[in-house]
Amino acid sequence: MSSTSREWIRQPIIVVMGHVDHGKTTLLDKIRGTAVARKEPGEITQHVGASIVPASVLKKIAEPLRKYFPKLQIEIPGLLFIDTPGHELFANLRKRGGSVADMAILVVDVMEGFQPQTVEAINILKEKKVPFVVAANKIDRIEGWKPTPDAPFLETIRNQSQRTINILEEKIYRIAGELYNHGFEAERFDRVRDFRRTVAIIPISAKTGEGVSELLALMTGLVQQFMKKKLVTSSEPAKGVVLEVKEEPGLGTTIDVIIYEGVLKKNDLFIIAGKSKPVVTRVRALLMPRPLQDMRMHEGRFTQVEEVYAATGVKVSAPDLDDALAGSPFYVIPDETRLQDYLKMVSEEVSELRFKVESDGVVIKADTLGSLEALLEAMRREKIPVRLADVGNVSRNDVIEASVVKKSKPEYGVILAFNVKLLPEAEELAAREGVKVFQSNIIYHIIEEYAKWVKELREKEV
Ligand code: GDP
Repeated sequence: MSSTSREWIRQPIIVVMGHVDHGKTTLLDKIRGTAVARKEPGEITQHVGASIVPASVLKKIAEPLRKYFPKLQIEIPGLLFIDTPGHELFANLRKRGGSVADMAILVVDVMEGFQPQTVEAINILKEKKVPFVVAANKIDRIEGWKPTPDAPFLETIRNQSQRTINILEEKIYRIAGELYNHGFEAERFDRVRDFRRTVAIIPISAKTGEGVSELLALMTGLVQQFMKKKLVTSSEPAKGVVLEVKEEPGLGTTIDVIIYEGVLKKNDLFIIAGKSKPVVTRVRALLMPRPLQDMRMHEGRFTQVEEVYAATGVKVSAPDLDDALAGSPFYVIPDETRLQDYLKMVSEEVSELRFKVESDGVVIKADTLGSLEALLEAMRREKIPVRLADVGNVSRNDVIEASVVKKSKPEYGVILAFNVKLLPEAEELAAREGVKVFQSNIIYHIIEEYAKWVKELREKEV
């Protein structure tokens, strides 16, 4: 590719969310498997932290569905799926005022319907304004279901008994009802008239693969119809987010970055948020996963590339990454004279999330910038004031902050901690001061436990 400025339409970035055990991982495995099996030789589907279903595969998928999606032409280079499902990595896809995710698949087990994490996912998607479709999963578990994995879904349905069809209809109707309670109109995908207003429900089985082609074809169509402008990018300095910070043998601390705009090159100067202050450093190496068949022949899991184009997931090796924070914005600084502007921009962005105020409120701690933002948003939703918000383990200082509040407002003199440790000296002081610490790696558990405790506290007061 030439180095002169050019424009292209990038892959949309897609996340899979939903309640535990509803089939997110199985669906992602199925999609990855499809991409690998049907790609053209030489096409790379595996990126760092993400997988791509290339346009060539989307075309093969769409062909047998022509009857149902007559107008579908594949104009995007593919779909990029974030490999790890659920809230945690979604939180790290944060972007000021939104998310880097362009679209989400909300997986709902048809047999179980909505569960607490389904609701949590919907709240997050609403807040971040991320459009979504619903995959009504595990249809193969419906009584009497006769699997026909290779037929288009609407033909599969015709093979089922009337009783089985009725059960499926009732389950979908129930999911549509739940969505309605959260402010969304929803319909089975083949009955939707206006995709701008109605959420599409696609019945699927991640296990047999039924409906998965329809899911991919439908998302392609929606993205092309509604987001093409948003997907235009050019060969400008890269923008991304730090998905994860990872130690790699022989490489030290590396960051896995999702690039959603522009081009990232070896030696590029970039800025990210750090634990104590922003980190400014240069790309030492850009690393991509080695294709599987190569693994046996070469040492190591990664191969070096000179540059990467949006949208992609790439591992960045660079000096001074020990302080890096997951969920941080990632910006290439085009010109060193603009360093101060970038420092100011990142500091402002981070201080919206990490702060200390003098008023009464709880102390919140989280492991990444992304999860801290998610926890902060949950606090806003629950109308719980916050005195101190920060990343890192719960320290003695956090306990001191909470104990100050405890004297005037007992119900706020607590620490809510997401996915972090309670340091021993903090634990000791908390016990002495009677400061409660609510800890979990599921946000709604923290809030539930805290709410229960507040209720008990109030009952004691009366
Ligand atoms: P996650 O926690 O949402 O990622 O759920 P998993 O993908 O790990 O799935 C949870 C369980 O449900 C596993 O035992 C899967 O094999 C099973 N499962 C997932 N999808 C389906 C499906 O479509 N049909 C059936 N029968 N089982 C499924």
